[in-house]
Amino acid sequence: MPRGGARLLQGGPIADEIRKAVSEDVAAYRERHGRAPVLAVVICGRDAPSMVYLHQILRSCEKVGIEGRLVEVDGEASEASLVDAIQALNADPAVNGIIVQMPLPPTIRLRRVVEAMDPARDIDGIHPLNAGLLRLGYDGFLPATAHAAVEILRRSGIEIEGKRAVVVGRSAVVGMPAAFLLVRENATVTVCHSRTRDLARQVKDAEILLVAAGKPGLITGSMLRRGAVVVDIGINVVDGRIVGDVDFESARRVASAITPVPGGVGPLTNALLLAHLVRAALAQEAATDVAAATREAPRIPAPPSRARVGAASRGPR
Ligand code: NAP
Repeated sequence: MPRGGARLLQGGPIADEIRKAVSEDVAAYRERHGRAPVLAVVICGRDAPSMVYLHQILRSCEKVGIEGRLVEVDGEASEASLVDAIQALNADPAVNGIIVQMPLPPTIRLRRVVEAMDPARDIDGIHPLNAGLLRLGYDGFLPATAHAAVEILRRSGIEIEGKRAVVVGRSAVVGMPAAFLLVRENATVTVCHSRTRDLARQVKDAEILLVAAGKPGLITGSMLRRGAVVVDIGINVVDGRIVGDVDFESARRVASAITPVPGGVGPLTNALLLAHLVRAALAQEAATDVAAATREAPRIPAPPSRARVGAASRGPR
């Protein structure tokens, strides 16, 4: 462990690298298409923290040359009108990626909304197809936060293979996909949740600890194994300040490395979302090229008549 406490795993510099690569890909895309790739951000109702997050995404899009399109659906609207809005975006060839801002109003079923989304435009990996691809170890779209939590370890040179990892939180969008990603990296993973008996005992075993519970101060330094690597995914507002789920001051004295909140997983989540959008745009471009090539290719010739078969067979000797 470095003197003076844990090494800080900052998301900012890694996010900058990713954004630089995204900007270059976006510039090349604009050159080819004469327009920017488009991310549609759907919001239903004006939840205040969501609005802040949303404007951050739109600003990030602008900085790398992506067109961010805000699609507002009235918070009082029916589930059907939200589904209609998503299906209209699916059908728009200019829209490369779609994200739906959570939380949804309580009258709207998340499952209906998620299933309405075109999996090829689901750049935050919430559609069941993308979740299933992750589970099976294939390359679908990953939920950006879970991706960021594991990517910050990889890009900071933290060895994951063979390590005992504990994930606190089992949500479909953060905890579980992060756990599957760690398994994919060959860690041995335990997933904890609100019904876990003796959370402290589980946490004490962790060489790598990912926390996504949405409970400020849930994990303290005394719960950690000395030298653990801690990734704090939580975002909570306490007394007007943004804090994670880990008590940073006590944890940094025991951990060997720790992500700060803010400044750890958050910036990387944002940059990876942009990278996922570019990946979607390029995949759609490739699919369109194949479709166009197939349309333009000569049709399979009709079976030749007997006479012509004979003629052909005498031809090129
Ligand atoms: P969520 O859907 O509310 O899930 C929370 C999970 O934590 C659940 O699995 C819950 O267990 C578990 N949990 C709650 N209290 C617990 C306790 N005392 N002990 C052990 N487990 C407990 O939240 P989420 O959407 O996954 O988000 C998790 C956190 O990540 C939130 O703070 C959120 O703001 C943050 N977040 C950060 C980013 C980012 O970019 N950094 C992005 C998205 C979310 P049960 O399943 O048993 O209820």
